[in-house]
Amino acid sequence: MSKKTLATIAVRGGIESDKNYAAVVPPIYLSSTYAFAGFDKKGPYDYSRCGNPTRDILAETLAELEQGEHGIVTATGTAAINLALQLLSPDDLLVVPHDCYGGSYRLFVNLADKGNFKLKVINMTNQAELDAAIAAKPKLIWVETPSNPLLRIVDLKKICAQAKAQGALVAVDNTFLTPVCQQPLTLGADIVVHSATKYINGHSDVVSGALITKTKELGEELAWWANCIGITGGAFDSYLTLRGVRTLVPRMRQHQENANKLVALLDGHAAVDTVYHPSLPSHPGHEIAKEQQHGFGAMLSFELKGGVEQVTQFIDALEHFSLAESLGGTESLVCHPSTMTHAAMDAEAQAKAGISQTLMRFSVGIEDGDELVEDVKQALDSLV
Ligand code: PLP
Repeated sequence: MSKKTLATIAVRGGIESDKNYAAVVPPIYLSSTYAFAGFDKKGPYDYSRCGNPTRDILAETLAELEQGEHGIVTATGTAAINLALQLLSPDDLLVVPHDCYGGSYRLFVNLADKGNFKLKVINMTNQAELDAAIAAKPKLIWVETPSNPLLRIVDLKKICAQAKAQGALVAVDNTFLTPVCQQPLTLGADIVVHSATKYINGHSDVVSGALITKTKELGEELAWWANCIGITGGAFDSYLTLRGVRTLVPRMRQHQENANKLVALLDGHAAVDTVYHPSLPSHPGHEIAKEQQHGFGAMLSFELKGGVEQVTQFIDALEHFSLAESLGGTESLVCHPSTMTHAAMDAEAQAKAGISQTLMRFSVGIEDGDELVEDVKQALDSLV
């Protein structure tokens, strides 16, 4: 059998797996519990927190897409992050980027404050800071590339090799790119996590998460923890997410085509100060992104010239962008990270991460790209 492409894996996950009625699309199993065949005769499933057939199809499909050995579907992306943190004991060091998703940052800082593990927050694009952190022998290094919201790029091959030399595990939050644009496990990472709420489901109607491991052993250890702490995903959410996954490849293509058009408009517009997108040759991570990614993704951010007044005016003038948190749905969203997605970071942490008051973030949807450009152009033109 020839090697399957991502589009085929995504579309055909669990197709024709139904043994009862040969349903082409796998049915949803909502039952919370499963009957034993007799005394001490447990079947493949006994209770849906521990295992669920619908969830398992999604987990297997995501693992195959990420080229991992084991997938675990969690109730939220945050639950997937929390699951990876179960690997840490109080004396273990966790190294994280200073500009990760605000909710991840809040989780890391607050669990470290409780003494669950030791924490080092660093700028991962600063090699000296990274070298010093890795020399301290962390148990786990957390990477977000591109980072949220400034799209900073971390060299995955390099950081994974460095980590391995010191015996550290590397976990990568691949929410922004999905396996369509980046497969961290093939570049040396041990764990990939997703907020499946975003592109993986892709329709802004499910909150869910996933964790995929490179090895079977690590996968089994974390699957044990997922059941133990009770964070596995629900059957209905898994069903909807699997439906979303089937269109992941063409959706990502269209998201990116539209994002590229918007980057071209924003870059050089008189109302815009700086544009952050790895496709731009001026982006410090451009060359690494070109090397380790397949496409530059559809998340982008930019700073408007002026102040909060311009931000308000710009947002009010937009027609086709909803002012909302989250990302990765078919619809375009605009967000003000400082007061929205990254509000969990205090002013000092935001300043350190480079999140200014005029920074805006777009999650570019799959509407007509030219109409999105027209809309953003009229909103920007109103500022100059
Ligand atoms: N990782 C990233 C990059 C995110 O943007 C988010 C949410 O916005 C999460 C993780 C957390 O995911 P969830 O909201 O599904 O818990």
